[in-house]
Parts: sequence; structure tokens; C-alpha cells
Amino acid sequence: MSSHNHNHVHTIADDIADKTMQDVSLCYQCGKCSAGCPVRYYMDVAPNKIVRLIQLGFYDEALKSDTPWLCAGCMTCSTRCPQEFNLAKFMDAVRELALEKGVKVKKNDIVKFHEAFLNQIKRFGRSWEIGLIAEYKMKTMHLMQDVDSAPDMMLKGKLEMIPHNVKDKESVKKIFSKTAKK
Ligand code: SF4
Ligand code: SF4
Repeated sequence: MSSHNHNHVHTIADDIADKTMQDVSLCYQCGKCSAGCPVRYYMDVAPNKIVRLIQLGFYDEALKSDTPWLCAGCMTCSTRCPQEFNLAKFMDAVRELALEKGVKVKKNDIVKFHEAFLNQIKRFGRSWEIGLIAEYKMKTMHLMQDVDSAPDMMLKGKLEMIPHNVKDKESVKKIFSKTAKK
């Protein structure tokens, strides 16, 4: 958490701590999060390295990375972290700060990726990774780019083969119609 004594300059790390209610120093860089991340392949910086950059005060590097924007919020990292550091929540905070500070993020494909992701949630209630990547590829016209790596990822069990609907699809739709109005 941020300290509020008078000599302390409020840093980006403090902003993140305020937004997430957890301190970035919790993370001891074991790398388990990045090892299980289903979209690591598309990221310019590994998820745990974004935490490291923030720990070390390299805020610009962290905020302009495409990694937080590619993070699908799947919680794989958060559930396997030995420190119970909620990395998915951390990524949300980094995205928010990048927007608040008007940081120019590296790749503009990211916006397309997010649109694809949101469409998947609307359709299935939660993300279905294969469909997500396929839709992303269609939108960005990079159809042939990763054809070779996809079967590998499937074999390793990193991508789910069958879309599973959440029971409460209606409430997801409601959230979307609410956020669309904003
Ligand atoms: S799994 Fe947790 S402690 Fe390990 S690098 Fe990732 S966030 Fe840090
Ligand atoms: S929540 Fe984000 S960083 Fe964590 S495993 Fe999922 S996609 Fe990767």
C-alpha cells in the first residue's frame, strides 16, 4: 500500500497498489505466472517482467508495453502464484493507468484483439481461446503468421478445445449493454 507521509512522492507503483489493494513487492519473480499464460506468445514482455519493471520504477516501459492489453484476464497466473499476487488485477490497473496518462501503447493491433476478446465473451459468456485467436487473426489479416505454432499450443493443453458457456450468460449480456451505454 502507498504510504502517505509528507516526504513520500506518490509513484505509479503506489497508484497500482491503491487500485489493486496489493503491493507489487509481493512478487518474487518466480515466473510461474508467465509459464502458464495462454497469450504469452503474443506479448512483447512476459507478464512477470511487467511486475518487475514496476518494482524497479521503469514505469514508462511497463505502461507502453502491449502485454497488459493482450492479457485476457483468464486468472491462470493469479491462481498459480505462490505469493497469491493477483496479476490479472495488476494488469487491469496498468491498463487503466496507461489510459489515464495518455500513454501510447506499442501495437495498434491490440485494440483489435480487445474487440475480438469482448465479442467472445458476448458469445460464450467467457473467453474461448481458440476462437479468440482465430477472430483476432481475421481482424488483423495476419492469418498465416502463427499457423505453425497453434497446433503446438493445443498439444500442450494451453488452449481450450471446446467453448464452455457460463450458466449466467444473461448477466454477462447485461454488463455489456450497460458498459456499451457509457
Ligand atoms: S507467479 Fe507470482 S510471485 Fe511468481 S513471478 Fe508471477 S506474480 Fe510473481
Ligand atoms: S490473466 Fe493475463 S497475464 Fe495472467 S495468465 Fe491470463 S492472460 Fe496471462
